[in-house]
Amino acid sequence: MAELPAAFLTRMKELLGEEYGDFLAAYEKPPLRGIRLNPLKCTEEKLRAAFPFPLKPAPFSPLSFCFPQEGGRVGTMPLHHAGAFYSQEPSAASAVTVLAPQPGDRVLDLCAAPGGKSTQIAALLQGKGLLWSNEVVKSRANVLLSNLERLGVRNGVVSSCRPEVLCPALAGFFDKVLVDAPCSGEGMFRRDPQAVAEWSPEHVRSCAARQAAILDSAAQALRPGGLLAYSTCTFSLEENEETVTAFLERHPEFSLCEAGLPQGRPGLLGMNQARRIYPMDGGEGHFAALLKKAGGPEERLPYPAFAEKEPAPALRREAEALWQEIFSCPMPQGLCQAGEQLLLLPEGLPPWKGLGVLRAGVLFAAGKGKRWEPCHALFMAASPGQLRRRLDFPAGSPEISAFLRGEELPAPEEWRGWTGVSVDGVMLGFGKCSQGRLKNRYPKGLRNF
Ligand code: SAM
Repeated sequence: MAELPAAFLTRMKELLGEEYGDFLAAYEKPPLRGIRLNPLKCTEEKLRAAFPFPLKPAPFSPLSFCFPQEGGRVGTMPLHHAGAFYSQEPSAASAVTVLAPQPGDRVLDLCAAPGGKSTQIAALLQGKGLLWSNEVVKSRANVLLSNLERLGVRNGVVSSCRPEVLCPALAGFFDKVLVDAPCSGEGMFRRDPQAVAEWSPEHVRSCAARQAAILDSAAQALRPGGLLAYSTCTFSLEENEETVTAFLERHPEFSLCEAGLPQGRPGLLGMNQARRIYPMDGGEGHFAALLKKAGGPEERLPYPAFAEKEPAPALRREAEALWQEIFSCPMPQGLCQAGEQLLLLPEGLPPWKGLGVLRAGVLFAAGKGKRWEPCHALFMAASPGQLRRRLDFPAGSPEISAFLRGEELPAPEEWRGWTGVSVDGVMLGFGKCSQGRLKNRYPKGLRNF
């Protein structure tokens, strides 16, 4: 681990008192490794069977597991490609556990890339309600989009927009908002030398100023009676309790609630309802606080529904025909053309134009000359049992390795057309069958080499 700044150590000594020794001792150990099950695509049984070592339940979310340090790379595993799980240090799941999204909620994840918490929210929504995942840095928003696609999220919107633009435009729309704020990353020191290199007391102060601005925007997006979870992966008082205290002073319509997380310890400065997690608490370093917005009814206010222009009848027929070629179930509502893309929009979408939206709902098809061809995202979000044709192989099979390298696969001689590919029953991608072969459509940028 990179050498820790002396000023940081002095601050930690003041914060921790007698426990400072335990804190330093924890840094001598390697960082914890963990994964989170994606129940949208996989079961716990299947996940356990796929790992050659035991998965130990982690206390920060019922979907999180720890695995041994020597567990090797998990990012190239077929079930990872298939979105059956997300690699996440276990305590990072605590902020969403605190927010506790329920199926049907409208949730905004305002600082969302690379998507650890967004994919956890999507899992808890179980496809019902709406998840709006925003990331201000465009390149990071693309990674976020790719992760939400991989995990088969259907009811999501991904945008890249500044919070001060996005939140007033969606004022009062969301039931729950997560601000997993950009921070000085003190809780990442064990695994991220760059966070150590960037740290200084001035950096901590500038992070706190940015967090205040983000929280002020977030407050606008939340409906009366809604819940706001604020989290960081840092220890400093300025970025945690002091940020929350200052926010509550600026926004008397908010009050602090019990975070409801048994792990970790109460916040400092008398903020007992918040949670702090230190490396010696079985996490890397997190802070989470839950705030409730009062001043109105508990229920949602009417919100102007977004009415997308009905696709032309000819386009609808083409889309229906393509859908029926692939699926044995009816095409869902929400068909929408956005330039060269056909989308299947989630229900209850608010007005979304001009907000830097990269994706709304599921990318169904892309225009290729005069034709529409299905997209990878459609198959990643598909229920395997609803496909007309699907090739399934076990995770350890040569076929799956070949598919992930972009190679053709053998297919039944009589199969023609778009065909799904799954690994142990979990959707992994698709291809096009003809003459006993499946031509591979696994995206080049995602392949194993
Ligand atoms: N929630 C994410 C997850 O679980 O994968 C991690 C989010 S990370 C702690 C904070 C994010 O905030 C970064 O992706 C960063 O690019 C973004 N960010 C940076 N400046 C921002 C700003 N001024 N407003 C909103 N987000 C910002």
